[in-house]
Parts: sequence; C-alpha cells; structure tokens
Amino acid sequence: MPVLRCFLPLLPTYAEGRALMAASSILSCSFPETDIAVLTINDPDKGANVLSPPVLEELAAQLDQLEARDDLAGLVICSGKPGNYIAGADLRQFVAWIDAPAEQITEFCRLGQQLFQRLAASRFVTVAAIDGVCLGGGAELALWCDRRILTSNSKTQYGFPEVKVGLYPGWGGTARTPRIVGLSNAVEMITSGESISPADAYAMGLATDVVEPEALEAAAIGLIRSEHQSGAYLKDRERWAAPIEISDTELGFLGATASSFIQGKTKGNYPSPLVALEIMLGCAGTDVQAACEAEAEQFPQVFGSPVNRSLLNVFFLQDRNKKDTGVAQDEVAVAPIKSVSVIGAGVMGQGIAAANVRRKIPATITDTSREALAAGVSKVLDEVSYNREIKGPDVKKAVEMAPAVNGSTSLEEVAASDLVIEAVVERLEVKQQVYAGLEPLMRPDAILASNTSTIPITTLAEGLARPEQFVGIHFFNPVRKMPLVEIIRGQQTSDATIASAVAYAKAIGKTPVVVGDGPGFLVNRLLLPYMNESLELVCEGASIREVEQAAKAFGMPMGPITLFDVVGIDVALFAGAVMHEAFPERIVASRLLQAMHAEGRLGQKSGAGFFSYQGTKKGRGKPDPETDRIIETCRTATGSFTAESLQMRMFLPMLLEATRVIEAGLVRDPRDVDLGLIFGIGFPPFKGGLLAWADTLGAEQVVAALEPFQEVGPRYQPTQMLLDMAQQGGKFYD
Ligand code: NAD
Repeated sequence: MPVLRCFLPLLPTYAEGRALMAASSILSCSFPETDIAVLTINDPDKGANVLSPPVLEELAAQLDQLEARDDLAGLVICSGKPGNYIAGADLRQFVAWIDAPAEQITEFCRLGQQLFQRLAASRFVTVAAIDGVCLGGGAELALWCDRRILTSNSKTQYGFPEVKVGLYPGWGGTARTPRIVGLSNAVEMITSGESISPADAYAMGLATDVVEPEALEAAAIGLIRSEHQSGAYLKDRERWAAPIEISDTELGFLGATASSFIQGKTKGNYPSPLVALEIMLGCAGTDVQAACEAEAEQFPQVFGSPVNRSLLNVFFLQDRNKKDTGVAQDEVAVAPIKSVSVIGAGVMGQGIAAANVRRKIPATITDTSREALAAGVSKVLDEVSYNREIKGPDVKKAVEMAPAVNGSTSLEEVAASDLVIEAVVERLEVKQQVYAGLEPLMRPDAILASNTSTIPITTLAEGLARPEQFVGIHFFNPVRKMPLVEIIRGQQTSDATIASAVAYAKAIGKTPVVVGDGPGFLVNRLLLPYMNESLELVCEGASIREVEQAAKAFGMPMGPITLFDVVGIDVALFAGAVMHEAFPERIVASRLLQAMHAEGRLGQKSGAGFFSYQGTKKGRGKPDPETDRIIETCRTATGSFTAESLQMRMFLPMLLEATRVIEAGLVRDPRDVDLGLIFGIGFPPFKGGLLAWADTLGAEQVVAALEPFQEVGPRYQPTQMLLDMAQQGGKFYD
C-alpha cells in the first residue's frame, strides 16, 4: 500500500495535509556519483527538521523512486541544516491526534515502522550521515539505516527523549535499538530519555565512525563503497532482525535492576519508561517484527494518557518560552551582555557569578567584606571547575577559569560591565545606597538589576537617574540547579531593558518569566500560601509526616516542612511578614514559625529547624521531639486528615492566589504561572502545571472542593475569576 494514502488521513484535515505538501519541498535528492543517492532533509520553514506526516509522505515517495533503480550502491540520508539533523516527530501533530482512537494510534506506529523498515531492506546500503541533534523519530529513522556516521560537532547528540513527553519510541526504536547496541544500553537510553555523545555512540556500536562535519558526506560514501564490497551490512541485517542473544539470568537481573532504578526515579508518576522496559525485555526472545508489533500495540497505553497530555503541555510551555522575547513589541533593541558584575559575594552572588562564568561571560564580583569576597571568589571557582568524576573542584580547570572571575573592591571596575546585578542583603536602604554610589559610574547604556526576593522594583528604583534601565532579575536558590529566573518589570522599566534581561537569562541557560512588580512577585507569592497552609495544618492536628507525605504524593520534590528548613526559618519568616503585610486577610502570620524562630531553630543552616540535622547525612533531617514540644504550644485543634484533604488544603490556596495574579495582570500569559512553578519550585511536571492540574478537575469541581474549607477562613473563598469559569465551564487552557 503506498504510504502516501496512509499518513495524510491522520492529519486533522486532508486539505491541511495537501496544503502542507504543496508548500513544502523538504526532501531533495541528489546524485554526487551515479550510483550514490543523497537525500537531504531541510524544512525551509523551520529552524529544526521534524518528521511531520508530509515529510514522511515525501520520504516514502523518494524511496519508491530510488527502489525502482537497480544500479544504486547506496543512499545517504543527511540534513541541510548544519548542527541539526532531525529533532524528532512533529509534536504539534501529536496534540492534534491526542483523542484519536487506540487503533488509529497503533496504525500510526505501524506505518512509521513499515516506512523506516524499508531502509533496512532496500537493495542498496543505507547510511544516516548525522551532524547535530538527532532525536526521537529522527533517531529511529537513522536506526533503521544500515549504518550511522556522526560528526564531532559539539551539537551532535543522539537520543530518545520520548519518555520526557510521557511516551516511548514507537517507530521501531524499542525493537531495533537493543538489537544494535545491546539490551542494557538500549534500556538505559530509552528509559532515561538522555542523549548520548558521538563518542558514546561509537563506543556502543551505534555509530560506525565519528568525523569532522566537512568530511561527513565523503565518509558516508566511502562507507557505502566498503560495505557494498564486503557485504557486512547484509549479515547485520539478518542479525538485527533476529531475537537478542541473552540468557534468562542476565535478562532477569537487568529487569530487576532497571525496574527498581526507574521506580526510584519516577516514583510511579511517569509510567512510560516502565512500559518501554517491559516491551524490550518481553520481546528480547522474539524477532524484530514481533517486537515492532508489541511496540505498536502497547503505544495507545501511553499516547493520550493524562501524563502524556501534561508533559506535552510542559513541552509547549518551554517551546513558547524559547521564542518569547519578553515584550509585546517586535522591534526592540536588545543590549548584548558580554560582561557582568555581581555586588554581594554571599550565597546568591556566588551562584549568579558562577552561572555567568560557566557560560563564558566574565564576572566581576565585589563585597564590602573582604573575607566574604575572598571566600566568594574561591567558591565560584570551585563551582565552575567541579568535576563529577572526582566529586570535587578540578585544580587545572580552576586555573584555566580563574581569569574569568574577577574579585574586585574597585567600584569603577564593578561599574564597567554591561550588566550589574546587585545581590546584597535584603534591606532597602543598603540596596539604595549601593545604587547611589554605582549608577553615576555606569555606562549610560548599561543595565542595573536587583536579585531582591521581596522588595518591589519600583520602590528600589526611587532615586535612580535611569529607572528605565533598572530591572529585577530574580534567581532562585541554588542558582546552579534552579532554571527559573523572574524578570521583574518595575513601573518605569523599559521594554528594551526587559528584552535584554530576557535574552541575557536565556544566554546563561535559564528560563526567564517576565512578571509584574509586587509582593512575592510571581513564584513566592504562590509558594507562600501553600507553605503557610502546611504549618496551619500541623497546628490543626496533622503530623509533619502526614503533611510531608501528602505533598510528595502529589508530586512535589520535597515536602513543605523540609522546604522551610532548606530556605531558612528566618528567611521564611521575613518573606511571610512581607506577604502578611500585603494580604493580611488571607496570609496568616504563622505562630509556629515565630515560635521556631524564637527558639533559634533556623533550619539546615543552624543544625536544627523542624527537623534535626545533628549527626545526619548532609541535608537529611530526622524528626526531633523538640519540634513536637514547640508544635504543642501552637496547637489549635486535633483534627484528622486524609491525604487528599491535606493536598486540597495546601494546593487550593496556591491556585486561588494564581487566579488573583492573573486577574491583576501580573503575568503576561496564564501559562507563565505554570512555567514559573514547574521551573521555580519543582511543581510536578506530570501534572502539567498548577493551572493544567486545575483544568483536569474543572472549575466547577474546584469551587466545590473549596466549599468544606469555608469555615477555615476567608482564604478559601473562591475568586471571581474561578466563579465565572465555573459558571461558564471555562478552562485555563484551550
Ligand atoms: P547573603 O547574606 O548570603 O549575602 C549578602 C552579601 O552581601 C554578604 O556577603 C554581605 O557582606 C554583602 N553585602 C552587604 N552589604 C553590601 C554592600 N553595601 N556592598 C557589597 N556587598 C554587601 O545573602 P543572599 O542569600 O546571597 O541574598 C542576597 C540577595 O538575594 C537578597 O536580596 C536576597 O533577598 C536575594 N535572594 C536570596 C535567595 C536565597 O535563597 N538566599 C533567593 C533569591 C534571592
């Protein structure tokens, strides 16, 4: 059956498919030698090649023509985009098919498999010549070729990231990979979703060679000639179609270790790696054809599942963020940031400086305390030279990086950078004093930013000569691990400054979200009600353990009580006071937090907070009877709670606050709420984000869930936005 008539009906409309096909000429075929065909994939309308149905149709048509020839020695499949081979299947099409019936999804897998299998059964040698990113469906296409050559380009990577959107490779990836690289390597690649380097691909036999990008085509043609002569590829075709050679003992051992590793990592919240594992292990003894069939049959189990939908949402949140300049207008001049200064060499200053140096932006760092400055510079160097293998700083690398970290006490030197980020103590008068001395020395086009976590940017800007060039760039702690950066727009911050800050944050590998000015900005404003509620619940009779477990069962990376200890009780108390002052009707001034603070239990940093850290492994707290004693002094009730009621008590105030943030226009798009929470506090991606989670419940159901808590306090009153949505059946996402 010609594939042309198979993929297109799967498009939302046939007309759309035809239109796409007419508009595209994505595959082109050339013949550098009479018996060698080179098929080049280059989508003129996209930065990255993706395997959309029209591209698959084109591939099928090209193969039809090539297979009709009996004089071809080989086919090279390459990309016309340097550094970008094929980024994967077209995820937008996946969204369009998300509600398709199971049989159609299975059929879609079969069609892809049949198309790619033609590459492993053609009468000529097929070679994937890969320069750049080769992922997902692209990796499967390459996998069905007889041979793969990768370039040494630093952009070249090979992998199956499907589990990151709740899927697994469905075009033969689970069947063919273990037959080429061995079951153990395949299990690791497919269930982790992590890409491998060209060197690793070569070491495991996935790549035949690794060459310079300029030598790629010649190497592929040379390989075709030698394979054609030796016929080695024909033996491999037979071997890779057969069952895998592995003993039952090895299979059992691999299954047990891999499944317990996956369970530990996913905590049961991400099913697709386990499904992929079962398929690979279960089909080790079958031929590749049966393995493909099992892969296709099981695919509807994951495709369209709630986790798949949520993770696709997260993917598109990120995709949108990558393209977002941070401002509405198109034409805005972005200031290139080539040098950065950081004022304050404390915890945050060190992390911020290191984030720059790691991305090759030299950083000048200063502090009023000489000891703090010396310690800060040394910690920055330790961080940027950290070597995973020796689990510590690499002296040689530290020496190499040293010129990029400039510890300075000269204000002129600090002021000379394109961007100066202030990260001194959280006190308005101290920060404003710093700006008063600094701003007159800065270049008129340079940007000044604050890393403040609570003080409004507009307040900080009072007294500045150029408030339009002042912005909040709020990193999260620890900077090394936390991808989110809030870009806070003060009343007078210009579009150019916002766009420059957004571009800068992306350049150092962060995920920027532009938010309005105000107490707690976005993330802390939503986090505080949740954390506060966890303490109220403890005072009302829930145990710390119950609260922690309920939050973790919801999917949070750590419980809220542990988070208090990590953040520091003093810091949390201060942030809580700011929020209480701003919103006294709904942010309770926690008596329990005050009592802990009064007892000097500041959290991990003081050795004891809600948990004790004496004699425990780094960061691991143990229950402390002293905490129970303090809780007793704050106890207001002796209620009992289910895990679900605890979850609702903690997450509904967060949701209500999110609707207020949206109502107040503090985010430019509601989707920024979800992005901010996922990347700022680790809100569970498998729930798609706070608003996506609320959509799965439905606004009416959320209003009903709030009902039993009305007696707890006005903080559980539904907002107008929620009531309107409940009445109209509205959703946060279309
Ligand atoms: P920190 O106490 O670890 O470091 C502050 C440093 O600033 C100290 O080394 C101090 O000597 C120095 N300093 C004080 N006055 C100075 C001045 N006039 N000039 C130069 N240096 C001066 O504090 P931190 O945790 O790094 O916080 C810094 C800023 O970042 C604060 O505004 C804080 O609200 C914000 N922030 C903190 C976190 C966090 O979790 N720690 C997270 C996000 C934002």
